[in-house]
Amino acid sequence: MAVVKADAFGHGAVAEVALANGATWIGAASIPEALRLRAAGIAAPTLSWLNPVEADWDAAITQRIDVAVSSLEHLHAISQSAARVGSPARIHLHLDVGMSRDGAPRELWAVLCETARAFERNGNVAVVGIMGHLSCADAPTAPQNDIERLRFVNGVRVALRRGLTPSELHLAASAAALHRSDTRFTLARIGAGLYGIDPAGREQLAPALTLTAPVALLREVRAGEGIGYTHDHRTTRATTLAVLPLGYGDGLPRAAQGRAAVSIRGKRMPIVGRISMDQVVVDVGCHPVQLGDIAVVMGPGDRGEPTAKDWAAWAGTIEHEIVTRLGTRSSRVLRTADERWAR
Ligand SMILES: *Cc1c(COP(=O)(O)O)cnc(C)c1O
Repeated sequence: MAVVKADAFGHGAVAEVALANGATWIGAASIPEALRLRAAGIAAPTLSWLNPVEADWDAAITQRIDVAVSSLEHLHAISQSAARVGSPARIHLHLDVGMSRDGAPRELWAVLCETARAFERNGNVAVVGIMGHLSCADAPTAPQNDIERLRFVNGVRVALRRGLTPSELHLAASAAALHRSDTRFTLARIGAGLYGIDPAGREQLAPALTLTAPVALLREVRAGEGIGYTHDHRTTRATTLAVLPLGYGDGLPRAAQGRAAVSIRGKRMPIVGRISMDQVVVDVGCHPVQLGDIAVVMGPGDRGEPTAKDWAAWAGTIEHEIVTRLGTRSSRVLRTADERWAR
């Protein structure tokens, strides 16, 4: 399952590419996200796993969007919606195996399975899957993974004993799918891994995204000039400054100030002064930079450019957050790996 929540972790419309390259399911957090995928022509089996009780279940059923169910309240609302729409809702019962977040508490599981079976009998739901989500998969050898895997297996057993016949059993996300093959069952929900992030930090996956910006302005300044708001940075020598037209409004974290760099003509150059909403200033020194040169703000790192991992370190966060926050002002262009550096 290719997980394309949050605009595919900030990458844009990649569901079709994932489906063309072996994914058979699409995963999204909310029904509105899943509906946008349907509107964009994505017809593959699609699961949405977190919705309020008053979500638009009618639309999910009509558009054949599978929904995860973590509570009896949700199950009742979905069943009523199915009765109204006149076709069964495709559901995945979600067991909390240890996250204390979404998923049904283990105490509720047997009742949830029984109720789902009753609704299945009267034609309002079809239990397509059983799911769980591991809390500590980024530490693949942690004993907690064994405990949670066992809880999932037991939960499946309870469901089968209650007469349910789910065709999909899914527990693993990227980290577990990569490092714990015993958690893959019939389906793995792959988000971060698709985009080149191993949450366990063990596998060198190729980052999928390259963020570039053109040099919009160049100016020469003397030593001692203050740069940007509040003059957080002052030049220590005469130098040349390049302005790139992107900033925190496009997802660059302000917290990376003082550490962040970009790559221009294959050379790393520091961002100086504040990261503004719409622009950053790069100290290009005496390097021959011209208007229109393309700065690589982050990329796979194989040509010396900063990576999302670098940005995460500079800002004190994780790669997931860096790529997910990239805003809608940056246009997305899908390229193959070979085309990556073409203009
Ligand atoms: C986000 C999410 C995933 C994908 O996790 P990755 O670690 O990014 O692969 C899978 N399942 C659920 C329930 C999620 O919320």
